Amino acid sequence: MSHFLDRLNFFFKKEESYSDGHGTVSNESRDWEQAYRSRWQHDKVVRSTHGVNCTGSCSWKIFVKNGLITWEMQQTDYPRTRPDLPNHEPRGCPRGASYSWYVYSAQRVKYPMLRGALAEIWREERKTKDPISAWTAITSDPEKLKAYKSRRGLGGMVRSNWDEVYELIAAANAHTVKNYGPDRVIGFSPIPAMSMVSYAAGTRYLSLMGGVPLSFYDWYCDLPPASPQVWGEQTDVAESADWYNSNYLLVWGSNVPMTRTPDAHFYTEVRYKGTKTVAISSDFGEMAKFGDIWMAPKQGTDAALGMAMGHVILKEFHLDNPSPYFQEVNELKMGHLRLVDYLERSEDRWHTLFVAHCEVVPLSHPKWHIFIAE
Ligand code: SF4
Repeated sequence: MSHFLDRLNFFFKKEESYSDGHGTVSNESRDWEQAYRSRWQHDKVVRSTHGVNCTGSCSWKIFVKNGLITWEMQQTDYPRTRPDLPNHEPRGCPRGASYSWYVYSAQRVKYPMLRGALAEIWREERKTKDPISAWTAITSDPEKLKAYKSRRGLGGMVRSNWDEVYELIAAANAHTVKNYGPDRVIGFSPIPAMSMVSYAAGTRYLSLMGGVPLSFYDWYCDLPPASPQVWGEQTDVAESADWYNSNYLLVWGSNVPMTRTPDAHFYTEVRYKGTKTVAISSDFGEMAKFGDIWMAPKQGTDAALGMAMGHVILKEFHLDNPSPYFQEVNELKMGHLRLVDYLERSEDRWHTLFVAHCEVVPLSHPKWHIFIAE
């Protein structure tokens, strides 16, 4: 209203000027600014991060008013890692900076959802049967199975509640264990870097039952599925700050500034030391602009490129020009019996080639030529 009145008086405004007319002091009402101040008011500040599957776990200050998040700001009290490494902070990304909007978004799913067709059948069966019998009745009836499975991918989810979905899941698991054995229950729980409690709960459940816990790599191919399949862990690798200790970086399978935003600065900072970077990607992603070389393999040829690199490294630097260090580590300290055993058994040359990029074998092994001499 005050702004409206000011506009009516536009030609009668009294103004003083200063700085030789470069600035003016008006007598307009500034009451409207109160709305802006109220928007950013808070009664306490707490520390948190975002459970959005990014694993960044950046530290944020969360400003809260009446129990509601009003805004957030990056926290800047990370300890230094060591004197010759850049600081970690500030960590954060645009997704995190807008996370409070997501929390209160009308689109946020706040309840367990169940496919409508399945909910209908399940609720009908549960009127007369215990949970396991109800699930057995559904899975043993081709018509009922088809009724809900044929709806997959078509939406039609309806609101359920935790009691109902817990019961349905437990009944389905118990049915499978009873009829096919516990190792036919295969699952995945949220990634450990994002939510340790959720991860531990799901993994513990599957492990105690005798089921199969998968990692999120092999579950939805978020990152290299070969890593947990070969090594039995989920890329237990150096943290991003260690990029700063590299002389040569290959960026492959990650669009670092986009998908690893809080750590991307290590990738750019290390270039000031003279580190060379190669971005390998078919598309010109953000990480390509930081690359000294942008290598754009044709789509679908990544595996061949990786195998060719491994071949050159092993052949030219370890078979033709054996390095004493490489041999010593292989033969005396590491052994790598797993691949040796594998070679003894395997007639499949492609598998051998694949494994060869994940492990090395003693150079004296008689089957070394299988994957290196050709
Ligand atoms: S990377 Fe972004 S979304 Fe993830 S924790 Fe950090 S600020 Fe939050």
